[in-house]
Amino acid sequence: MISSADIEKLLNFKEETYKTCSFYLNVDGSKYTPRDYETITKNLIKERRLELEAEHLPHGVMKSLEGDFEKIERFVVEEFKRNNTRGLAIFSCSGKDFWQVYRLPRPVKNILVVGNDPYIRPLTVLLDEYHRYCLVLVSRDKARIFEVYLGEILEHFKVFDEEVPGKVRIAGWYGLEEKRIERHIEYHVYRHLKQVADRVFDFFKEKRFDYLVIGGRSDILPEFERCLHSFLIKRLVARLDLDVETPIQEIKTQILQIERDVEQKQEVQLVTRLMEEVATGGFGVFGLHDTLKALYVGNIHTLLVEEDFSAPGLECQNCGLLTTVEEKSCPICQGPLVEVPDVVDEAIEEVYRQRGEVEHIPNNPILKQLGRIGALLRFKMPASLRALPLT
Ligand SMILES: [Zn+2]
Repeated sequence: MISSADIEKLLNFKEETYKTCSFYLNVDGSKYTPRDYETITKNLIKERRLELEAEHLPHGVMKSLEGDFEKIERFVVEEFKRNNTRGLAIFSCSGKDFWQVYRLPRPVKNILVVGNDPYIRPLTVLLDEYHRYCLVLVSRDKARIFEVYLGEILEHFKVFDEEVPGKVRIAGWYGLEEKRIERHIEYHVYRHLKQVADRVFDFFKEKRFDYLVIGGRSDILPEFERCLHSFLIKRLVARLDLDVETPIQEIKTQILQIERDVEQKQEVQLVTRLMEEVATGGFGVFGLHDTLKALYVGNIHTLLVEEDFSAPGLECQNCGLLTTVEEKSCPICQGPLVEVPDVVDEAIEEVYRQRGEVEHIPNNPILKQLGRIGALLRFKMPASLRALPLT
């Protein structure tokens, strides 16, 4: 699975002499058979090859590209096994021996781009949808800090405070000595927990994770929570009864389950909020038509869309209007309209361009009733906008 370090690698790959191929393929099992996506691959390569031949590129550059095409086709036809993969991204520059394959958890639009650097927008769009989690396991003298992202878990730090003394074993004068040592231990434990909390806060400033999960024994966890910065408390979504020495595979199973629960809860909350906003005439629209209208005026804060919802439509080449209504020219600017196979897909990309958020929601009966798509708005749609001639 892809990591943020991979994205960094792609962002940093710049090539002056040769061209780089960026290839995205929708291999979604609910829509395509392997034969389908193999044919799509071959056709995309054929199209690009024809275009490139007309450009009369230097021999070395063309040779590198031919190498890319051949490798990509061979990979898709002979090597690739789909399993749970729904999208495939390949970056190749044969002249520089650069070859990266990513299996993606969501479908992507089929595209083969030849350019001077990797074309990564579809990848970043996809990554935006995933939340980054931080998991901290803590005991009275140890701590481990993990990052969880895109189904992967990575251990970043181990903190081991050797100065925390062991359990109290000495009984002194009327227990006075014991009490003194106890206080001493409490102080050390507190100092250790505070150090760990500071470390987590630094980690947050570096990684900007969305959610925090803490784990440890129930006697230490509330103490640790009290040490956390309020920014972190706001992101705390779960507390696990988990020993600091738990093997990573077991930690992974537990945290991925937490992640699924959190995401699902959030989806339900978002749809409920949309329903309330719609019911009270506030900051919400539903159905494809009104959602596209809100999008046109740059008013989408969060787009809620059923995972597999798609619809053919038209796009204005002049002002970017997306519509599902058959018209000869754009009802806003009279510009030419071109057919697009999926306005939902175009809408999602436009929301990202407008710095809005997109939530893909699987199987929600309320969203289905609301027309499979809707949006939480930045501002209330004034009557003048609601009356835009888009019907
Ligand atoms: Zn227009």
